[in-house]
Amino acid sequence: MKKILLSSLSILSLMACQAPSDTSTSSTPQSTETVEAIKVKVSLSPTVESIQQTALGGTHGYDIIESVTTEIGARVGGSPEEAKAREWAVRKFTELGLSNVHIEEFEVPGWVRGDEEAEVIAPFPQKLHITALGGSSATPEAGVEADVAYFPTYEELEAAPVDGLEGKIVFISGRMEKAHDGAGYGPANKKRQLGATEASKRGALAVVIRSVGTDSHRFPHTGQMRYLEDVKPVPIGALSAPDADQLERILKRGDNLRLKLKLTPRSVGSVVSGNVIGDIVGSEKPEEIILIGGHLDSWDLGTGAVDDGAGVGITYGAVQVLKDLNLKPKRTIRLVAFGSEEIGLLGAFAYAEKHKDNLKNHVLASESDFGAGKVYALRTTVQGEARGALEDIQKSLAHLGVKMEAGDTSGGPDIIPMRRAGVPAIRLQQDGYDYFDLHHTPDDTLDKVNKEDVAQNVAAWATMIWMASEADVDYRETPEEVVGE
Ligand SMILES: [Zn+2]
Repeated sequence: MKKILLSSLSILSLMACQAPSDTSTSSTPQSTETVEAIKVKVSLSPTVESIQQTALGGTHGYDIIESVTTEIGARVGGSPEEAKAREWAVRKFTELGLSNVHIEEFEVPGWVRGDEEAEVIAPFPQKLHITALGGSSATPEAGVEADVAYFPTYEELEAAPVDGLEGKIVFISGRMEKAHDGAGYGPANKKRQLGATEASKRGALAVVIRSVGTDSHRFPHTGQMRYLEDVKPVPIGALSAPDADQLERILKRGDNLRLKLKLTPRSVGSVVSGNVIGDIVGSEKPEEIILIGGHLDSWDLGTGAVDDGAGVGITYGAVQVLKDLNLKPKRTIRLVAFGSEEIGLLGAFAYAEKHKDNLKNHVLASESDFGAGKVYALRTTVQGEARGALEDIQKSLAHLGVKMEAGDTSGGPDIIPMRRAGVPAIRLQQDGYDYFDLHHTPDDTLDKVNKEDVAQNVAAWATMIWMASEADVDYRETPEEVVGE
């Protein structure tokens, strides 16, 4: 029996593009060798050297990010734009010479943004910058106007009495800490996921939160929310960080803050989304699948360059490097552009369900979904003898700044359902220090993507899939106990 502990809350916190703040464990000793020592000891094979030279000298990943953000733009899960992006991906996968290129469709709940306006009515009338969270219900057309109940943190709302917020607009603040591994996202994200539920339980009319983000720009951050249990679905929007600061300054001057809020998104019923899939069929072990990918959908405010055009581009670019060099991997390399990640990992669950009888042949899985920053570490759930093969990959990446990192990994948000079913996961950890400045805002655009950083990612991914494919090990011989997140 595999023992995989993933609470529903940790799934929630992983939704919509978090770098899993993978917990360190003592079960995987960290290499004590320095990068310099490794460089001296390990010489790259000629094939790996040419893979890395090709990747670092090219724009394989960047060109794909440029293409999808320019030719499609924003791509909300289940939208007509996401459907166009699937057709785009089929063309690109076919141009790449992949086999079995196809779309696997599934249905998702459609949601469309409407008007979004917020203003301070009293004591200092002024407009605010707000955006509705994905899945939010709407206010009446005329909006709602009410006194504000202020909670400095989500935890204080959670601890509040079960009534007393009748007729109020709840404002939940709380700052997210910046971190290279995105560790601040999970804690900060609770108010986005559950703020409306907790406020509604206590009788509130509507909710505004300080955006889940680390920037100081006047852009609110959207992202999926959900209503739990049988609560009345009250509308919820995110204010930009400077607007949240403004409300806190006003509140310091007295508690007579009154807001007006108009959010008119609407649900549009069941709509079609899909995953796009293509393979390089393995030359010796075609039944063994190494699955990599990113997610094709994005939020609607930006053009989805860092989230997750980058992941689609990086993984596509890695496969393209092998194709450029006419390399024929022993195992099957499967490239997936997942749909509807942002609205609840719906493509990931659809993939795991559709392929459930064959997940035992998925020997490694990994997603790139943390922007376009450089890779700095490799993590994997693989233990036992096969772990050595993955340590060899890290040694071949050490000169690119990639260390071996102890601890668990989800493999990426869209890998979670597969991993729960026992598929071994691997992840190239990226520097996401600035990721949550842009995440789910209008600022998620191509100009934020650095070509050299993308090329470093492509070099690491191409090295990883090639060496993982060639190694004479069984990745599935992983110890029974996999303790999650
Ligand atoms: Zn993402």
